[in-house]
Amino acid sequence: MRWALLAVLASTASAAGPAGAPTGPTEADFENVHFSRIICWTWVACVGSLVIYQIIVHSVRYVRTITCLNNDTQRFFARSRPTHALLKRDFIDAPLLHMRHHREFKLSAALNVGTLPSRIQTLYLAGYLAMNVAFCVVSIDWSGVEKSVASELRNRTGVLAVMNMLPLFLLAGRNNPLIKWCGISFDTFNLLHRWIGRVVVLEALAHTLAWMVSKVHQVGWSGVAAAMTHSQLIMTGTIGTVAFLGLLFQSPSVLRHAFYETFLHIHIALAGLAVGAVWIHLKTLPQQRILMGVIALWAMERSLRLARIIIRNVGRGGTKVDVEVLPGDALRVTVRMARPWKFHPGQHAYLYLPTLGWWTSHPFSLAWSEEEQEGLTSEKGLVVHNQDILEVKKSSMSMIIRRRTGFTDKLYQKADLSSSGKFTTSALVEGPYGHQSLSSYGTVILFAAGVGITHQVPHLRHLVAGFDNGTVAARRVTLIWMIQSREHLEWTSSWMNSILCMPRRREVLKILIFVTRPRSPTEIESPSGNVKMFAGRPNVRALVEGELEHGVGAAVVSVCGTGSLADDVRRAVRGSQGRWNVDLCEESFSW
Ligand SMILES: Cc1cc2nc3c(=O)[nH]c(=O)nc-3n(C[C@H](O)[C@H](O)[C@H](O)COP(=O)(O)OP(=O)(O)OC[C@H]3O[C@@H](n4cnc5c(N)ncnc54)[C@H](O)[C@@H]3O)c2cc1C
Repeated sequence: MRWALLAVLASTASAAGPAGAPTGPTEADFENVHFSRIICWTWVACVGSLVIYQIIVHSVRYVRTITCLNNDTQRFFARSRPTHALLKRDFIDAPLLHMRHHREFKLSAALNVGTLPSRIQTLYLAGYLAMNVAFCVVSIDWSGVEKSVASELRNRTGVLAVMNMLPLFLLAGRNNPLIKWCGISFDTFNLLHRWIGRVVVLEALAHTLAWMVSKVHQVGWSGVAAAMTHSQLIMTGTIGTVAFLGLLFQSPSVLRHAFYETFLHIHIALAGLAVGAVWIHLKTLPQQRILMGVIALWAMERSLRLARIIIRNVGRGGTKVDVEVLPGDALRVTVRMARPWKFHPGQHAYLYLPTLGWWTSHPFSLAWSEEEQEGLTSEKGLVVHNQDILEVKKSSMSMIIRRRTGFTDKLYQKADLSSSGKFTTSALVEGPYGHQSLSSYGTVILFAAGVGITHQVPHLRHLVAGFDNGTVAARRVTLIWMIQSREHLEWTSSWMNSILCMPRRREVLKILIFVTRPRSPTEIESPSGNVKMFAGRPNVRALVEGELEHGVGAAVVSVCGTGSLADDVRRAVRGSQGRWNVDLCEESFSW
């Protein structure tokens, strides 16, 4: 990065002045480079601190897991440390104001205006915004003549806009390495991407306006029009700024959520246009090297996606999916990949079904995996049955997909129209993305609403199995699942039965099911003491406090479901953080 910035000076130093003599870098050029470098170092400092924090957190969790394996009380880890509790309650887990964070502001059922960032996200964004505003205006000689002020402002905002494009593109990618290094979700990086995008657009606009105001005063609007049509530098700069503005106006939450695929295609096209135009605009300028870095980041991200797709799906008969209609507007999709990965809780993958969705991909949580022993098939595809039969292990992974209005609706309709509500087709699966381990917690409370259960089932299975074979700290695992109607139980019934048949599950697992819209009171029946069913909504706070009261060791509360459930859970957890050592994990199925 440094070489690119220093190159600004080097090239300016060799630039010839009007009389042919080298002008050398001006003080303003030094300032521009200086501020770009501060932005760069701010990122390095933030990432560095988060990496150190992650190393500490993971070390603590590792030590806790090891020390709790044979410890049924885990009292040492149950106590909350006042400073850490305060940090979590008022900073890391806090909503911006009172309790709203994930609950969307909606104009109607279909019009989602967005959510409020959390407190820590807002502080970071406000700081970043303030830093950029300050860097755009400080050390400019505002008392100078208009032409020189405009020129300084133009150069400053241009340099900063290009610099900000680096994090802008890095954070947009699924394969952004910072997700793992910093322990920050793609969801949060997506939020940062959107805000940095706004900063870039405003800086590009200020850059253009600074040029335009000065030009109008010198040669009038006709001069501006002539420059825009005859000068490649100005024409490409204008196209770039217009493309950036297009990106700004096409990406508000309401449009993004209502027409996601259309939004995404236009977004990529406009981003490509902006980068192309800025590339030519910077033809004679050293900042083009920074843009080269931007393009390299984008190309690497796309190549990684392609590599994942090829590795997992090409050869060995390709990847096949069985799609099956379930009651309650849902589908079970079972994926048999050419080369499956090792299944872990918290993973999700992108599903491509070219026959239905062309090249588009949709993220879904991996809810279950199965190891199948298959007979080796002959060339004709028939299972070979002889004494030399070789058995190969093939693992399949399953997702539960709730029908929405786009791709998922098409998929549902196709399965519904197929005989017996099932069909098999070729697919591509890109992943795995994400991974979450709750093994180090003595008490695990899992909240799910509707299809959010797909995120929690793998944790249940892993923790109950780990409890039996002594590889996790978990001693008390509670699932609280809210469903609208009893038929939604079908989505995971076979998997839940497998979990309920696992050895020693009665000692560790409790399941509470809340049916929010039961058709009749007879629907509500509790199958056993450890699996209870209730009508209505749970009192989240009472449940969390009750579980923690009887909890063992450090606790975690994980939530995957509606925004309002996530906000209720967040409030309950924060209310308990002064007394218990409890962490919060959220998965929102959205960005
Ligand atoms: C990490 C993650 C895991 C998920 N796991 C599951 C799961 O296990 N089961 C399940 O039913 N749903 C899951 N979802 C949600 C699922 O991806 C969307 O419901 C699905 O993509 C909607 O497709 P659609 O074309 O029918 O959507 P539409 O009806 O067009 O839109 C519905 C909503 O889905 C969003 N959406 C649409 N396409 C995408 C996309 N390609 N990427 C991200 N969001 C999109 C839209 O912004 C909108 O808010 C998950 C989402 C994420 C981010």
